[in-house]
Amino acid sequence: MIEVEKVRRETPGCEEVIHFNNAGASLMPRPVLHTVVQHLQREALIGGYEAKEEADDRLEQVYQDIAAFIGARPQEIAIIENATRAFDMAFHALPLSAGDVILTTTTEYGSNYLAYLLVQQTRGVEVRCIPNAPSGQISLDGLRKMIDDRTRLISFAHIPTNSGLIQPAEAVGRIAREAGLFFLLDATQSVGQYPIDVSRIGCHILATTSRKYLRGPRGVGFLYVSEAILDRLIPPFIDLHAASLTSATTYAWREDARKFENWESSIANTLGLGAAVRYATHLGIEAIWKRVHALAASLRSALQTVPGVRIYDRGEVQGGLVSFTMAGLEPEEIKSRLREQRINVSTSSRAGTWLDMEEKGVRAVVRASVHYYNTEEEIQQFIAALERLRKRG
Ligand SMILES: *Cc1c(COP(=O)(O)O)cnc(C)c1O
Repeated sequence: MIEVEKVRRETPGCEEVIHFNNAGASLMPRPVLHTVVQHLQREALIGGYEAKEEADDRLEQVYQDIAAFIGARPQEIAIIENATRAFDMAFHALPLSAGDVILTTTTEYGSNYLAYLLVQQTRGVEVRCIPNAPSGQISLDGLRKMIDDRTRLISFAHIPTNSGLIQPAEAVGRIAREAGLFFLLDATQSVGQYPIDVSRIGCHILATTSRKYLRGPRGVGFLYVSEAILDRLIPPFIDLHAASLTSATTYAWREDARKFENWESSIANTLGLGAAVRYATHLGIEAIWKRVHALAASLRSALQTVPGVRIYDRGEVQGGLVSFTMAGLEPEEIKSRLREQRINVSTSSRAGTWLDMEEKGVRAVVRASVHYYNTEEEIQQFIAALERLRKRG
């Protein structure tokens, strides 16, 4: 069980705001903040390169801790500046060619979807959407029926950016394995929120960020690439970190997943990411998920009591992202009016998840995303604030 008072005391932001924007960037706990600031101070005092050398063992530990957190091996982890670039480095490294088919979902993240459209244009690959079941998650039967000898890759966001839906990743993993397909999972909203074990899911590639449910700093994320496919992937970019010159005309890639990294990166943020992973590990991901799940359910039922509110979350299992609209007020306006009262939410627009928003017939939604350090009391304050907005119009 999460000791709520304790984790709130360890989160300086809890005294400042009601933070329901954990799907955007969560509030960092003190150990994370301390780790980042401490390293920046060392850089200022002894020099950036020298501070890194001093931190080399702790940097190695970050790979170990990430690997343990998601059931991977340290050599399968690359640390990359954000989830999108982590995704891109692996996606554009896949051996896809003209006629190959990528299967994705209607809830796919905008940037990933753009990457599919790009290779559709440049490589003659075709992208298709898996149909949804009545619950709103993908239909596993529909997926099985779509697979033919042109299908090469299944790739989608585990938890979409705009709602509480959780796609059935493990079941898809079994189907991908049986059919011998690559499986890429964008776990940007799920790592730190929901238990993730890549060996159970069976994905070959997983990309995520530090700043969302992991509660780490901005500007860093990580990539997992299974050793089973690592040597078949050729990264789209190369540098002196990813590879080394072996003569004036030849080079060799690194053998581990760090061939997807680039040379320069934020050491402070990497160490901060490590601290965030250890913090989550210490609390226990099962306990985290249980509380996030319960708080989100509680927020949804409280929202249902507010006249004019419509909730858009679908799926058999629903997580911490709660999406809604309220009659008479645009999502952007709700966001800025709540902000004046120190309540943080964000909005999701068409661009983020085009097909899903089109299907739901909505231009934008408010996204209120809770984490384990939020409380029932904050939910009541949030609802009271919405009621005030509604009455003032
Ligand atoms: C936020 C988000 C991303 C992008 O993450 P960045 O770190 O901003 O690149 C990718 N996928 C999903 C589902 C997201 O919510």
